[in-house]
Amino acid sequence: MPRVDFHTHSTFSDGALTPVELAARMAAQGVAYAALTDHDSVAGSAQFREALAHKGIACVEGVELTTMSAQGEAHLLAYALGPDSPGIAALVAGARAGGRGPAARRSEAPRRRVPCRTDVVPV
Ligand SMILES: [Zn+2]
Repeated sequence: MPRVDFHTHSTFSDGALTPVELAARMAAQGVAYAALTDHDSVAGSAQFREALAHKGIACVEGVELTTMSAQGEAHLLAYALGPDSPGIAALVAGARAGGRGPAARRSEAPRRRVPCRTDVVPV
C-alpha cells in the first residue's frame, strides 16, 4: 500500500521545514503521494511540487483555509486548488494581507476569516 501525506505545513505557514526540505524528508520516509497544506497560503506550492517531482513523489495541490462559523474557528483542508487558481488566490490574498508572513506563528495577528457553514445534514 502506498504511503501518503496530505496534511503538511512548511515555513510558509507554521511548519519547521521549507517545502524542499519537507519533500526530502517525505522521500526518505517512502511517501508516494503528498500535499502541502500550509495555512492560508499556496506560496510554497511551486517549490514543493518541483521538489517532489525530483524525488518521484506525486503532488496533490492543497491548502488549509482558516474559516469561521457560529461554533468558532475551523480549519478546512482543500485539495486540487493550485496557486494558479483564481479562486484560491483570492482567498489566500486576504489572509496574507491580514498580517501572516512566511515566518508568522499561528497565534499572531487576526487573519481574515472565510465564512463557513457547518450545518450537519443527515444522510
Ligand atoms: Zn494543518
